[in-house]
Amino acid sequence: MLSVRLRRAAKRWHRTYRETRLVARALRSPNHPILAHVVVTRRCNLACTYCNEFDDFSKPVPTDEMMRRIDKLAALGTTVITLTGGETLLHPDIEKIVAHIRHHSIVAFQVTNGYLLTIDKIKTLNRAGLDHMQISVDNVKPDAVSKKSLKVLDQKLQWLAKYAEFRVSIHSVLGACTKNDEDALTVARRATELGLISTAGIVHDSAGQLKPLNAEQRKIIEQIEGLSRGRFSPVSHNPWRKNLINGLPNEWDCGAGGRHLYICENGLVHWCMAQRGHPAIPLAQYTREDLIREAAIKKDCAPYCTVFCIQRLAVIDEVRANPKQALERFFPPQEAEGKPAPIPFPIRALSSLLAPKEGGSRKRVLEKAALRILKVD
Ligand code: SF4
Ligand code: SF4
Repeated sequence: MLSVRLRRAAKRWHRTYRETRLVARALRSPNHPILAHVVVTRRCNLACTYCNEFDDFSKPVPTDEMMRRIDKLAALGTTVITLTGGETLLHPDIEKIVAHIRHHSIVAFQVTNGYLLTIDKIKTLNRAGLDHMQISVDNVKPDAVSKKSLKVLDQKLQWLAKYAEFRVSIHSVLGACTKNDEDALTVARRATELGLISTAGIVHDSAGQLKPLNAEQRKIIEQIEGLSRGRFSPVSHNPWRKNLINGLPNEWDCGAGGRHLYICENGLVHWCMAQRGHPAIPLAQYTREDLIREAAIKKDCAPYCTVFCIQRLAVIDEVRANPKQALERFFPPQEAEGKPAPIPFPIRALSSLLAPKEGGSRKRVLEKAALRILKVD
């Protein structure tokens, strides 16, 4: 058990270094994808009634084709790949795919419903170098809508808490399906008790647009957020979330198609899971020009978009373009005290070192040293 703890700690430091490096790279250059979601199979072993992301017959994407897609994403400069589905654990070579992502020094992230997890599978994913796993848990007990239930998955969560050397987050979506909204809080508390991360999303329609939360749901989401208060990661900060929780629109530029790519099972590039069909160009033919053109398109779906992972990428781009204004916008005065919110150290350090375009010779030396340590070109 001690060796699991030591390996976990070593991997946590290495992961933090690589995540800092990816933020540094994104602050230096606007023309590479920061994150790509890649479908490994459309097939799922469950059939949640709210889901339009699955079928019960598709074959997995052939492994050699998956390797080619990852090579192409690496050539475009992608820094994080999230494997998604359908159900990712149905792919017979999921570990090889994870190892291939890591071979390119890309951060490897996997989304799963957790049903097929075993202790052996967790250990193989450790060896493959998985960085992060996200499991969605919809309710406490299975119902007609979803079987992704704490009652069924609790044993798997315990195995993850004991054996996983990667980061594990348990995700609940408020308003997704359960009749009892309190279930999301029960799930989040159990995740925290096991030492796992708990996150909460907001239900959206099939186009990624907000479905407003009621007062009770807003209270629950605040309580879930309170469970992870004090834990900050430069890749998880989302200043637009609060407006959405309150049913308000946001003004932001979505860089999907450039900063984020969604690769479907047929190997086509789409803006995101919710906006499939734009631009639907084969990944094998996707070019730097495609990235720049698609990222710059103004997306009508942006104001009420709830795709948080893509909004976070836009935070980095705003800091890169206008560090001072962006930091003031993202860390506004705290409501009660009227003082600016403290800017977390990683954000302060990276933005003052890398984002501003001007500076004296001392700053240029520090900038050069930071880039060398982070191995950013
Ligand atoms: S487990 Fe995930 S992919 Fe499968 S049906 Fe449910 S929501 Fe869809
Ligand atoms: S704003 Fe961007 S991430 Fe959100 S739904 Fe539209 S294309 Fe997708």
